Amino acid sequence: MGRVVLPVKKTSLDDLAAPGLLQGVGGIALASAGALAVGAGACESLADMHWSVVILAVLLMIAAIQAGFGLVRGQVPDSVVAKLAAPLLWMVAAALLFRVALPYAPQAIILPVLLLGTFCIIFPLRIAIWPLLLVLAIEGGLWRFGAQGLGDFLLNGGAYLGASLGFLLFADSRAYCRRRLEQVVAERREARACEYARDLGFDEPPLAVAEIVAVGDEALGDNISTVETVVRSFELQLEIIRSALSLRSAVLFWPDAAGTGYKLRAMAGERREIAPGPFPRGAGIFGILQRSGKEVALAGLSDFGGLPYYAGRQEVGAVFAVVVTDDAFPADSERYGVLCVDRAEKDAWQPGELQFLRVAAGKLGLDVTMGRRLCEMDRERAVIAQVVVGLRELNGVLDLASAFAATISMVRGVLAAEFVAISLREGECHRIARAEGLGAEGLEDQVFCKDDGLVGQAMAKNRVIPTNGVNRTAAPIFSNGKRVADFQSLLIVPLRKEDGESIGALVVAARPAGVFSQQGRQILELVATQVAVKIDLARAHEKINLLATTDGLTGLANHRTFQHGFDVMLQRAERQRRPLCLLLCDIDHFKRVNDTFGHPFGDLVLKQVAGVLAESVRQVDLAARYGGEEFAILLEDCDEKGGHRLAERIRQTVGALPLSCERVTVAVTLSVGLASYPADGAEKKDLITRADQALYRAKKEGRNRTVAWSTVRREA
Ligand code: GH3
Ligand code: MG
Ligand code: MG
Repeated sequence: MGRVVLPVKKTSLDDLAAPGLLQGVGGIALASAGALAVGAGACESLADMHWSVVILAVLLMIAAIQAGFGLVRGQVPDSVVAKLAAPLLWMVAAALLFRVALPYAPQAIILPVLLLGTFCIIFPLRIAIWPLLLVLAIEGGLWRFGAQGLGDFLLNGGAYLGASLGFLLFADSRAYCRRRLEQVVAERREARACEYARDLGFDEPPLAVAEIVAVGDEALGDNISTVETVVRSFELQLEIIRSALSLRSAVLFWPDAAGTGYKLRAMAGERREIAPGPFPRGAGIFGILQRSGKEVALAGLSDFGGLPYYAGRQEVGAVFAVVVTDDAFPADSERYGVLCVDRAEKDAWQPGELQFLRVAAGKLGLDVTMGRRLCEMDRERAVIAQVVVGLRELNGVLDLASAFAATISMVRGVLAAEFVAISLREGECHRIARAEGLGAEGLEDQVFCKDDGLVGQAMAKNRVIPTNGVNRTAAPIFSNGKRVADFQSLLIVPLRKEDGESIGALVVAARPAGVFSQQGRQILELVATQVAVKIDLARAHEKINLLATTDGLTGLANHRTFQHGFDVMLQRAERQRRPLCLLLCDIDHFKRVNDTFGHPFGDLVLKQVAGVLAESVRQVDLAARYGGEEFAILLEDCDEKGGHRLAERIRQTVGALPLSCERVTVAVTLSVGLASYPADGAEKKDLITRADQALYRAKKEGRNRTVAWSTVRREA
C-alpha cells in the first residue's frame, strides 16, 4: 500500500504579517511610528527601551523583511504609496539598528548611509527623496529632544546628504554611459548596413536619389533592417554549406562600391582565423578565379597560400571558389561576388559536392536580388506613406492658401524638387498662385498669357510636359521675360478637375538630370488630380465665405461681419488700452433719390458712396453696410478728434461725387453720428446707441454734417 503524502503548509515570513496591511498605507504608518520613536530618542539604549518600543521595533523589522521578500519575488507595487512603503520601512529599520549599535560601534552609520545610496541608484528621485527626508527628520528629532548634540546632527545629516548626492551622480553617469554605448552600437550597425546596401547595389538604380533623400530617415531605417535580414540569410546558408560538406570555412565576398577590392560579407567557420579584407581583386584565389572563369576547384593541396583572408597559417587541402552573380551584377560585368569554401582534407571535390556548391552560389545571388527588391519596396512604401500623409493634410485644409502650402510640402516630400509652383487659369491668362524654391522670388502673382512657355503648352494640351521629366527644349517654363533657373529635370502636370477640365498646372523642377523617376511622375499625376479637386473646393469655399460675410451690392462687410468685427476690435482696444471710433453714416433724403430717379439709380448711388468709404479707411479699419442706406465705420486706435476729421473728409468726398441721371446732376449728402471708446462708453450696444443718437441729432440739425455724441451729451 502506497503512502499518502499530505501537503504540509509551511509558514513563511510573509505569512506572519498580513499582506496588504503592512504594504502601502499600513507600511508607511508603521515606518512613521518607528521614525517617531527613533527620532524621539526612545531607542538610544537597548537596556532602557520601553516594552511598547520593543514591540514596535520587532513589528518594524518583520515588516521590513517581508517587504524585502516581496521585492525579491518580483512583486511590483502599483501605486506610488505602495512603492514608498518598502524603502521607508527599510530606512527606519536601518536607522533604528544604527541608533541601538551607536554606543558600541559608531561606524554602524555605514548601514543607513549605504541603504540610502542604494535607493538613489535603484529608485527614481521622486521615491528616493522620501527615505532621505525621513532619516534627516529622525536626526533632527534626536537633536531637538537632546539625544544628540548639534555637531552630531550636522555630521550624520551631512553623511546622509553627501551619500545620496554622490550615489545620484554615480547613477546618472552610469545611465549616461549606457545611453552613449547604445548610441555607438546603433551607429555602427547603421554604418555597416549602409555600407552593405551601397556595395550590394541596394540603393541603385530603380529609384532616383531624389526619393531616397526626400523620404529621409524613415526609408533608411527600413533599408537597414532589410539589409540585416539579407546578411542573416547569407550567414545561415553558409552555415548549411559548411555543415553539409564538413568544411572548415565558407565565406562570401563582394566587391566594394568602387569595385577595387573584395570585402568579406558573410561567413561560416572560425571567425578569429579570418581577416575581413578588403583584398585586391587579383590576390590569390580571386586572381585564379578571374583567369579561369566561373569557378575553380582545387584539391590535393599542400602549403597552399592562395587564401588571402586566412590570418594565420592554415592547413588547406582543397578549395572551391565560384562566382555569385545577380541581376545587377552579371558575371561578365567584372563586379560579381565570390563564394569560397575550403577544407583540410586533400580529397578531390565530388561531382555531387560541386553541384551542391553551384546551386548554393545561385541561391546566394538570388538573395542579393531579393534584398534589392525588398529595399526598393521599402523605399516605395516610404514614398507612398509620405503621399498618404500629404493627402490627409491636404484634405484637412479649407482655404486656398493652406491648400497651396499643403500641396507644395507634399510635392517636396515625395520628389527632390528644387522648385515648385502652382499656376491657375484666369480666363485667357494664368497666374502663379504660389512658387517656392530656387528662382521663385518675385514669381508669385505674375500673370502669363495662356499660350506662353511650357506651362501654357501643358495647359493648352492638357497633358504632362515633358513626358519623361527631362527638360530638353530651350523653351522657357513661363515666358522669355521671366526665366527661372536652368532646370534639367522638369515636370509640368495639368491640374485637372474630375471632369477633365484643367484649372491650372503644377510645376516641379530640379537642376540635375534624371531626378524624377517613373514612379515619381505617376505619383505626381495622382497628387495633381487631388490638388485640382481641392483647389476647386477651396475656391468654392472662399466664394461661399465671401457671400456670407460681405454685402452683395456694395462689396462692403455686411451687418453680421460688422457685429463680429466690432466685438473683436473692441476686445483688442480694451486689451491694448487704445481708443476705437465708431461712425454711423446715413445718406440724406435717399428715399427722394429713389423716388425721383428710380431704384437702379439709387443702387448706383449706394455703390459710389460705399466706394468712397472703402477708399477712405485703412486696412485695419472696418467699413460695413449697416443696412439700407446706412453705413458703419470702425476706426482702430482712433479717438473722437481723429474720427471727426475722417468723417468730415468722407462727407465732403461724398458731397462732391459727380453723380448724374439723364443729364440731371444729383447731389448726395451724408450725415454722420460719432461715438468713441472709451470716452463715450465701454459696451458695444452703448456705443451703437450713442452714435445713432448723434446721427439723429445731425439729421435734426439740418443733415449733411457730423455730430459727435459728446456734444449731444454736453448739451443735454
Ligand atoms: P433721411 O435723410 O432722414 O435719412 O431720409 P431718407 O429718405 O434717407 O430715409 P428713409 O429711412 O426714409 O429712407 C431710406 C430709403 O432707402 C428707403 C429705401 O427704399 C431705400 N433703400 C434701402 N435699401 C435700398 C437699396 O438697397 N437700394 C435702393 N435703391 N434703395 C434702398
Ligand atoms: Mg436711414
Ligand atoms: Mg437716409
